[in-house]
Amino acid sequence: MNIYDDITFVKGVGPKMGEKLNKCGIYNVLDLLLYFPRDYDMVKIGSSIEQFEDKEKVILECTVKSILRDIRTKNNKILSTVIFNCGNNNFKGQWFNQPYAKNSFRVNSTYVITGKVEKFNGEYRMSNPKILKNTSIDKNKILAKYSLKDNLNNSFLNKIISDVLSQVRIIENLPAKIVEKYQFMPLDESIRNIHSPKDRYSLEEARRRLKFQELFAYSMKIFMLKELNKSSLGIGFKMTHELRDLKDKLPFQLTEAQSRVVREILIDEKRNVPMNRLVQGDVGSGKTIVALISLFNVIKNGYQAAMMAPTEILAKQHYFEATTLFEEFGINIQLLTGSTTAKNKEIIKNDLKEGKIDLLIGTHALIEEDVVFKNLGMIVTDEQHRFGVNQRNKLSAKSENADVLVMSATPIPRTLTLCLYGDLDVSVIDKLPPGRKKVDTYYLDKKEKNRAYDFTLKEISMGRQVYIVCPLVEENEDLKLSSVETLYNELKNGYFKNIEVAILHGKMPNKEKNAIMEEFKNGNIKVLVSTTVIEVGVNVPNSTVMIIENAERFGLSQLHQLRGRVGRGSHKSYCILIANIKSDTTKRRMETMKNSNDGFYIAEEDLRIRGGGELFGFRQSGENNFLLADLVEDFRIFKAANMEAKEIVNSESSEDKKVKIEIKDKLERSSKYICFN
Ligand code: ADP
Ligand code: MG
Repeated sequence: MNIYDDITFVKGVGPKMGEKLNKCGIYNVLDLLLYFPRDYDMVKIGSSIEQFEDKEKVILECTVKSILRDIRTKNNKILSTVIFNCGNNNFKGQWFNQPYAKNSFRVNSTYVITGKVEKFNGEYRMSNPKILKNTSIDKNKILAKYSLKDNLNNSFLNKIISDVLSQVRIIENLPAKIVEKYQFMPLDESIRNIHSPKDRYSLEEARRRLKFQELFAYSMKIFMLKELNKSSLGIGFKMTHELRDLKDKLPFQLTEAQSRVVREILIDEKRNVPMNRLVQGDVGSGKTIVALISLFNVIKNGYQAAMMAPTEILAKQHYFEATTLFEEFGINIQLLTGSTTAKNKEIIKNDLKEGKIDLLIGTHALIEEDVVFKNLGMIVTDEQHRFGVNQRNKLSAKSENADVLVMSATPIPRTLTLCLYGDLDVSVIDKLPPGRKKVDTYYLDKKEKNRAYDFTLKEISMGRQVYIVCPLVEENEDLKLSSVETLYNELKNGYFKNIEVAILHGKMPNKEKNAIMEEFKNGNIKVLVSTTVIEVGVNVPNSTVMIIENAERFGLSQLHQLRGRVGRGSHKSYCILIANIKSDTTKRRMETMKNSNDGFYIAEEDLRIRGGGELFGFRQSGENNFLLADLVEDFRIFKAANMEAKEIVNSESSEDKKVKIEIKDKLERSSKYICFN
């Protein structure tokens, strides 16, 4: 078996299953091996049900005494019961609405079963028992839980992954001296342990190694990019006299911080080395205008420019801002996104090639191969953290010598910036424009969430608008989080029965998303229940309340970013965090949000409070492309990986040079940070 074989080559995967796996991003064997569990269940093994605590997941070997007849409960569910015997006790195994489940059992036969223990009036029961096959019951087990879509189930994934692993051997691909220095578990063993951990320690070691690997590969990519950039020649743009006219047209006076950053950029533009600069500035610090001024100068030098944003909504917003600002300067600006009609796309692409378009604004539609510029002089990527290094590179590849400016509102600590963007120079807009009001922030326990909705109704009656944000989760059995659809239905039929409520999430078609955003902007929709799709850049000054559900699930920086969606107009604004406050850590994190509006401070606190990882907790699906690593939690690993990568890239020894070439080759062949031979 080859790891690049199509997934349908795997035994037990037919075309239908293949399609389902495709939906999870699994196309070949490698993808499958890299489909890491999102969490694990610690399952205890015992010989008697009474040795366990209530709610524990357990494995037991027991014999079926009898199978009872199904009964219908008061609330109209079908209850099936099997009586098991184990040690000296009998206990009931029960299922609701799964009458077929008992059919797998035969009286007097013995099975290894797993399920959740329930202690009920002094009696022990097991809910949802399942038969485990081929299980040796000598040790406690850690069972992988995968992200599941479309009726896939864990045992199926477990089975095909272990089938594949029994047929392949994965070759080590970190330099030997690194494996030795950090005492890493070999790659092959790590991949096996991440899917079916031998024990807790092996799982931790596997994760440590794989995280390092991702961060190391990422760092190598960044440093090699920097080397590449150093070698190409840039365009020296003059400072055009029209800059002065533009300055007169600005709707406001630039802050000192903005002016400083504009100066830094213009100096870069003048040099004939390609610019590679990151502009970092808190939400609302005014990055857009800085970018537009920089683009303007390049355009007035006779070159084309491009600006890429992560969402269509944001791209449109930039487009309108640019059109307004450049109105009297004879600049041809076009918008290219996923929903541009095919006909218009054709026209735009042609005009672009012929140099008729000066400024192209859009989403990642811009990086498509057939988008060709005549003389591209500058590229701006907004909300850069939303794009991977690969996407950033693809856009840069449209012109070897164009200046590159990336903008990010993720206020990351300086130390992290160095690791993350080692290839970039950094400018910071460290002051907000004058007159900004602080967004008052409160947190509530889940039980009091109605208070937040009451408050919302009050603001709406005064003409304001409200965002309610939920974390992005799949509805699944054991995560009872407010997923966006459930909450929307609940609110629409309950609290906000007489109010215009709409839902917005990433899986909706673009057209629908835009229409809803448009309606929200116009004020026709009062409450927008959404996932974090509204996290970046959206500007609706009349919205004054940001409610965040399950706030404990978000990183602080992300909470801060979301909060930045309100407080953009003249009205007093509020952010209400609804959290499941069980631990001191959560409380401290919520306090941090309440007490500070400073993105950089919040980011540092996040790094401090989160510290060690919560291995068995829910893993925040990151905005980066890492499978395992979390840039905040795994900062120390990142630093080490970064240092090792830097050493290899800068080394003159022939051995390191060989390693460098090898890694470069691998990275080019695989878009994933964990790559194989
Ligand atoms: P971000 O840095 O989050 O991208 P934007 O560029 O969207 O911020 O700017 C946020 C808002 O602040 C916009 O409405 C913009 O017009 C306004 N703004 C930007 N700079 C200034 C300034 N110097 N004075 C007043 N308002 C400003
Ligand atoms: Mg912005």
